[in-house]
Amino acid sequence: MKILNLVAAGLIALGAMSTQTFAQDKGTVGISMPTKASARWIADGDNMVKALKERGYGTDLQYAEDDIPNQLAQIENMVTKGVKVLVIGAIDGTTLSNVLQQAHDAGIKVIAYDRLIRDSGNVDYYTTFDNFQVGVLQAGSLVKALGLPDAKGPFNIELFGGSPDDNNAFFFYDGAMSVLQPLIDSGKLVVQSGQTGMDKVGTLRWDGAVAQARMDNLLSAYYTDKKVDAVLSPYDGLSIGILSSLRGVGYGTKDQPFPFVSGQDAEVPSVKSIIAGEQYSTIYKDTRELAKVTANLIDKVLKGEEPEINDTKTYNNGVKVVPAYLLKPVEVDKSNWKEILIGSGYYTEDQLK
Ligand code: BGC
Repeated sequence: MKILNLVAAGLIALGAMSTQTFAQDKGTVGISMPTKASARWIADGDNMVKALKERGYGTDLQYAEDDIPNQLAQIENMVTKGVKVLVIGAIDGTTLSNVLQQAHDAGIKVIAYDRLIRDSGNVDYYTTFDNFQVGVLQAGSLVKALGLPDAKGPFNIELFGGSPDDNNAFFFYDGAMSVLQPLIDSGKLVVQSGQTGMDKVGTLRWDGAVAQARMDNLLSAYYTDKKVDAVLSPYDGLSIGILSSLRGVGYGTKDQPFPFVSGQDAEVPSVKSIIAGEQYSTIYKDTRELAKVTANLIDKVLKGEEPEINDTKTYNNGVKVVPAYLLKPVEVDKSNWKEILIGSGYYTEDQLK
């Protein structure tokens, strides 16, 4: 028995050693993620580590808790340690130019992950979802819920944008406005507050509490004698804040149902809210796929081969057009959550109870 245990322990040790050596042979990939405050980024980090390990790479995964100097220090540290590739989900896409120059000088490849890094020529690739399409789907779901374009209206809508330091926020907003603006122009949709444009509707750091406070203000300034019919929200964490604000002034009952509220990321609290008939929709982005695409790209690049890219036009970061791989986002609401989220194995039914 003892001998068997010893042998087993030896085999495990050998296994561990060989994995490590193998990983060292292929090198380490530094993964810098913005925050653990949102479940999507935790899943992104975990999925990246798994996908890279499967391909024989070591990983150094760090979260920056939405603190820009923190993210900078973590990336500098990865450069010093000599990672082969940096995968960065940036907090502020405009603040990384110096460290990326250092990375480039050290021969480290840089991949902007999900969020474009701006103002630097040293971004080699960008892997993400079709961000304009995310906005189109968000607005499209609200328009469908309101019965537009056929319904007579007019309906009251308020608009929320993402963090103005995140390039994605502008793509989401522009995609959404490509659907909403014609209906605003024709009078079928009315923004009672008059607040439109990212400079007015942006939500710094994607903070749900900031969105909740703004919704409180909108409700007390413009909706004491009117009702809101729809709210464009670009992210589930904001949608939850917006819904609590609405609940605070009496929405969410049979007589005064919630307005239609969009979202993004299919995070568990929001999917539960959709199932309960509160939040109207979200956008599902399969982060397992994003990790797979990114890991395959890294593998190709490090082998000196051409990686697969499907967009070479859309993402100009201010210095160059960054070659990108775009995945497809999917709209999820009460009618299809089971098919999409359970059917794909993204969640189990138990997780959503
Ligand atoms: C991501 C979204 C996410 C948002 C807030 C964006 O850059 O693309 O999926 O909802 O950040 O974390």
